[in-house]
Amino acid sequence: SEGKRTQDERNIPQAIEIRGARVHNLKNIDVDIPLHEIVAAAGVSGSGKSSLALGVVYAEGSRRYLDSLSIYTRRRMSQASKAQVDEVRYVPAALALHQRPGIPGVRSTFGTGTELLNSLRLMFSRLASHRCPNGHYVAPTLDVAAERELVCDQCGEHFYAPSAEELSFNSQGACDRCGGTGIVRTVDKSTLVPDESLTIDEGAVAPWNSLMWSIMTDVAREMGVRTDVPFSQLSDKEKDIVYNGPQEKKHILYHSKKTNQAGELDFTFFNATYTVENALSKVKDDKGMKRVERFLKQETCPQCGGTRLSDAARAPKIRDLNLGQVCAMTLEKLSEWVTGIEPTLPEAMRPMAHSIVESYLTSAKRLEELGLGYLTLDRATSTLSTGERQRMQLARAVRNRSTGVVYVLDEPSIGLHPSNVTGLIGVMRDLVADGNSVLVVDHDTQVLAEADWMIEMGPVAGKSGGNVIAQGTIETITNDKNSRIGPFLKLDHPARVRDRIEKDSIFEFGHIRMSTDSIHTVKPLEVDIPKGRLTVVTGVSGSGKTTMVLESLIPGLQAASAKEQLPKHVRSIEAAGIEQAKLIDASPIGINVRSTVATYANVHDELRKLYARTPEAKRLGYKAGAFSYNTGALRCPVCDGTGVISLDVQFLPDVDIPCPQCRGSRYAKEAGNIRRKGADYKEYSLPELMSMDVDSALEACAGLKSISRRLQVLHDLGLGYLTLGEETPSLSGGEAQRLKLASEMGKGQSASLFVFDEPSIGLHPSDVRTLLGVFQTLIDQGATVIVIEHDLDVIANADYIIDMGPGGGESGGRIVAIGTPEEIAQSSQSITGKYLR
Ligand code: ADP
Ligand code: ADP
Ligand code: ZN
Ligand code: ZN
Repeated sequence: SEGKRTQDERNIPQAIEIRGARVHNLKNIDVDIPLHEIVAAAGVSGSGKSSLALGVVYAEGSRRYLDSLSIYTRRRMSQASKAQVDEVRYVPAALALHQRPGIPGVRSTFGTGTELLNSLRLMFSRLASHRCPNGHYVAPTLDVAAERELVCDQCGEHFYAPSAEELSFNSQGACDRCGGTGIVRTVDKSTLVPDESLTIDEGAVAPWNSLMWSIMTDVAREMGVRTDVPFSQLSDKEKDIVYNGPQEKKHILYHSKKTNQAGELDFTFFNATYTVENALSKVKDDKGMKRVERFLKQETCPQCGGTRLSDAARAPKIRDLNLGQVCAMTLEKLSEWVTGIEPTLPEAMRPMAHSIVESYLTSAKRLEELGLGYLTLDRATSTLSTGERQRMQLARAVRNRSTGVVYVLDEPSIGLHPSNVTGLIGVMRDLVADGNSVLVVDHDTQVLAEADWMIEMGPVAGKSGGNVIAQGTIETITNDKNSRIGPFLKLDHPARVRDRIEKDSIFEFGHIRMSTDSIHTVKPLEVDIPKGRLTVVTGVSGSGKTTMVLESLIPGLQAASAKEQLPKHVRSIEAAGIEQAKLIDASPIGINVRSTVATYANVHDELRKLYARTPEAKRLGYKAGAFSYNTGALRCPVCDGTGVISLDVQFLPDVDIPCPQCRGSRYAKEAGNIRRKGADYKEYSLPELMSMDVDSALEACAGLKSISRRLQVLHDLGLGYLTLGEETPSLSGGEAQRLKLASEMGKGQSASLFVFDEPSIGLHPSDVRTLLGVFQTLIDQGATVIVIEHDLDVIANADYIIDMGPGGGESGGRIVAIGTPEEIAQSSQSITGKYLR
């Protein structure tokens, strides 16, 4: 058997072998991806990294896993993903941590998402003092630990300690008022009669119009309310009947305009408030919820104080605190507190306590290393940034201690300050140590430099990409002349590519001055931001960048220019000459497949008009509207112009596959027959144009002024590789952000402030230079640019830096240093300065 084992070991595959991959722009490539190592996929954006990592490795790894589920699923799926790859061998089960983790539900918190709450609930079940039914506390003993019956010394009562399950707000421990969500929805009285100048007959009572039959106005009349005078002129008594009147039955005569029938019937009066409550209790789906939602407001649950826990679940105490209270502590404080538990327990309990405490601390330490120590476990996941959520998933993956899995990580460096990159690398190393493999798509040279192996895609984006241009260890890549990332890996300092502005002339064009009170963990601030310059806001995650810029500055400026009231916490804002503040962030564009690059960039409308003018279209009577794939006569009848159809696979989320009829083109066959000559003298149909990338379309459409101008902007922003018909919601965050930017270029911008939230997402270091050029263009047009950023290349090229911190959460929220990059580099307080040095 000794001999057999070495034989096996020799046969253990060392790499995922990919042969003939053609997903998206991949050029029929063969590539081996080493297993049990950290492998990085690099390349400019659009070069095919994601197509390789997600489109091949993850798609195949997850498909094979799904295959094992059932014959039914298998049949549907193999139809579904006729993977555009000849062969993939030795791919383990794959898990992907996406750049944009799905939107979490109301029941998800940082505690549940990290699973740290499981350990805490176990502590509170096994290690706590428990309350007897008469309200006395019984000190922890091994009996508690074993979930055995307890006896209260004071009253002699016998009772059982709650199990960990009974302490869960997603189960038996839920507050009965809010059902474990921590919030209650109540009717927002101010929305019931939005316009008091209307009469009830004219529809003054909004919920009666949208949630009830309009017959309620007739019933109201029977209740003694005048329905033909403006609502504002009704007596208090009449208004009270509308808002709170009793459910009395009234006999009414009615006349239906729709059917032109008259009749009489008994009808119960539903006051406006009850109308909403009643509709809320009957809501079945999202659509119904939407209709009711506008009459509701959310409040912290008064019964549990937002802790989501029932009174019983908040009873057990450790070190004088209950579960709700400890969940409100930051992870850093909580770890200290947990460390202090063991010494308070009887000797006999300590070994058991030790294992629970250790399991908690190991996971918590991970999260702290990933720079999330400032978060509290009760924080709703929906209020976390995408970077924070992705790191939360990552930490959980390690905690689960799986083995034999390939983890595909899509830009995990998002939102990560240079000082937290080490933590990220540590997590990836742990995954590998547990017998997994890591394939990471990233641009951050600090992350790339730590990989054991690198596969570089290129040479450029789109059509002219999709090849492996270099592969090997970091050392190999650095010395490979074909590599485009190599030179950046060698560079150990960020390069300045913009002209420096002398310290004395920074404020030459004036300033924006803002003063704010404290909000979240951010302290009161006074800040001056130079107009007509590039200001970069830096700081570790949780230090308050987003709060200052997105919750104070932008809403403050918007309110000021609209002459409306400033947000409560904004004391004053002074910004002469700034008329608009525009946020260009990485949130998805559009929510459904109907928004495409062509529609968003405004070229689709133009193209439709053009095709309607062709002789063939005229002969067949097709106007521009017919060429709309959303509503036009020429849209594909099978997929209704979406290009995809959904398969519902049992137990799984629906799977979208390209429409078999139009093959994803969204158009009916007839549309293909209507063609016009391009600048290159070839003839194209509209569906063909839509399947071209921006650069090819630019050639085909040369000579068409407004279309080429719009396409040229996309090209200049490095988006030339996008396909015109590509749906915008599936663009990466960085691509979405640049597409939004494209629609802003080429206008005079002297009255504009642009705010960018991490624009370096998805950008190769060479693309970062292009981006800096775009900022310069905006500034040359007179705009003021503010950027929230972690990328050192961007930071080093700022005119002015505002460094927040020093830490995250309670230990941050101040301006640590402010000034030119040189001044920041000299600041001994600034962590960012240390990296700039
Ligand atoms: P990277 O990850 O290197 O930025 P991608 O793999 O996302 O590059 O993209 C490679 C090429 O494939 C690009 O030309 C892109 O436009 C194209 N592509 C990516 N996703 C899709 C899609 N869903 N439909 C059509 N083309 C796509
Ligand atoms: P950064 O942008 O520097 O990462 P943020 O401005 O997002 O920092 O966060 C600053 C602090 O405010 C953090 O402690 C964060 O947890 C807290 N915070 C941010 N948004 C909310 C929110 N909606 N509710 C509660 N706390 C929040
Ligand atoms: Zn509650
Ligand atoms: Zn179709």
